[in-house]
Amino acid sequence: MGDPGGLDIVIAGGGTAGWMAAAALARFLEDGSRITLVESEAIGTVGVGEATIPQIHNFLAALGIAQAEFLAATNATFKLGIEFGGWRAPDHSYIHAFGATGRGSGLIPFRQLWLRGRAEGFADDFGAYSPNGVAALAGRMAPPSPQPTSIPDLVTAFHLDASLFAAFLRNYAEARGVRREEGRIVNVEQHGPSGSVTALQLEGERRVAGDLFIDCTGFRSLLLGETCGVPFEDWSHWLPNDRAIAVPCASSAAFRPYTQSLARKAGWQWRIPLQHRTGNGHVYCSGAIGDDEAADILLANLDGAALGEPRPLRFKAGRRAQAWSGNVVALGLAAGFMEPLESTSIHLVQSGIARLLELLPREAEFAAARATFNRVTALEWTQIRDFLILHYKANGRVGEPYWDQLRAMPIPDSLASKIALFEEAGAIVRDEGELFTEEGWGQVMIGQGLEPRSWSPLADTIPSGELRDYLATLVHAYRRKAAAMPSHREHVASLLGLSSMK
Ligand code: FAD
Repeated sequence: MGDPGGLDIVIAGGGTAGWMAAAALARFLEDGSRITLVESEAIGTVGVGEATIPQIHNFLAALGIAQAEFLAATNATFKLGIEFGGWRAPDHSYIHAFGATGRGSGLIPFRQLWLRGRAEGFADDFGAYSPNGVAALAGRMAPPSPQPTSIPDLVTAFHLDASLFAAFLRNYAEARGVRREEGRIVNVEQHGPSGSVTALQLEGERRVAGDLFIDCTGFRSLLLGETCGVPFEDWSHWLPNDRAIAVPCASSAAFRPYTQSLARKAGWQWRIPLQHRTGNGHVYCSGAIGDDEAADILLANLDGAALGEPRPLRFKAGRRAQAWSGNVVALGLAAGFMEPLESTSIHLVQSGIARLLELLPREAEFAAARATFNRVTALEWTQIRDFLILHYKANGRVGEPYWDQLRAMPIPDSLASKIALFEEAGAIVRDEGELFTEEGWGQVMIGQGLEPRSWSPLADTIPSGELRDYLATLVHAYRRKAAAMPSHREHVASLLGLSSMK
């Protein structure tokens, strides 16, 4: 037990999850809690995980990290959304952009106005009404306007170098008193009928005792999975991709302010542009394609010279049935994994940390906090899972065995009812606490080619000519605004205090 001045908190693992947790706990636990992080350089980290979503700004702001400092330390670039290329058909692409799409009128969501405009033959592509999407595809980026304007500011996230991010957070955490122990955990000590973890034994006969243990040991889930025996809920029947191969390449001239997710024969390829290189990877299903072919596909589709050897990774989609068991809370890959199609893993680490901080009692009696943490975490993961499955279920690549099977697969009822609702009249109802917005669901549903049979009668309350003018005005305004922005490259250079960037 820790003294009355707080808890002894031990973080096992120093990847992105471990160091994010260490940095946040060091920043917010000023009650005398002592934080120790154990990591093994010999084991290393997963080394991928470079695309984020806009909530990352909350994490950085909470830790008092300035954007320019973060950009310089992690070689980061801006991300305005994700382009999905080839998911609906080999030559089709759409963008799931952050932020609003269009502007509704009163009670009428914009999506409904667009559905009617399209049926009447005068609406542009749905993506043309997203300020983020338009700026992204034009390669533009701009900071928030100093004065409020009628067109919303861009909503951004970052692409970052995962190892630089962990190193940056390590400096931050160590400067705030986090103690780091280098070495391999060789045994986990437990005590009492509940099997509470009491200490980690490290090679070299060292022992790190604690009240609360945060398992950030990656896919191995050394504390939560192996020691506490919390079972893994396997979701691979919905998300069958189980391997990835990753390789960085030289930066492309495009310097895109968005992630690309390009559908391939039996999976998809990511491109994540950083300041100094582009991160690439091919996520695929080993039952549908061999490792050599997967590597060939990736190497044939780089938009710069490869930098280093391709690195294979293996995983299984799913999560530990409880994220918190006894006095062990798992974050990151130790809690589970869903493929990086919507860049949600780092966010799940962040939201897990926020939840833990909000619920953490002062004494080592966690029953109520644990129950709530587990309930909310399960909901959050399931909602994200459904959103990912949507991309596969609604693919349009007819005649390709991998894609045909995914289109035919049974899906969770929770997703089936969302799709059915949308197909009736374009309605989308966001569940309580859900990460993805109605707009995000709408962009992916429309982008993947789901077709509502009609639209809401609300959208009929506007005269047709007025609707046509309104839709045209929005498209012109968003294009004009994007055209006046600096390029993504110019914007990053100016934040770094450089006159130009290569
Ligand atoms: P790891 O990085 O594996 O760290 C585990 C740590 O535990 C290491 O420090 C290791 O040394 C330590 N450890 C393990 N065992 C022991 C032991 N016995 N003794 C001592 N130390 C030990 N997420 C996103 O948000 N965006 C993305 O674009 C994205 N892309 C991804 C692509 C792929 C192919 C994969 C597999 C994941 C991706 N992710 C992405 C997920 C992201 O990489 C992880 O969520 C994130 O890196 C956190 O990993 P981690 O810290 O949990 O695990």
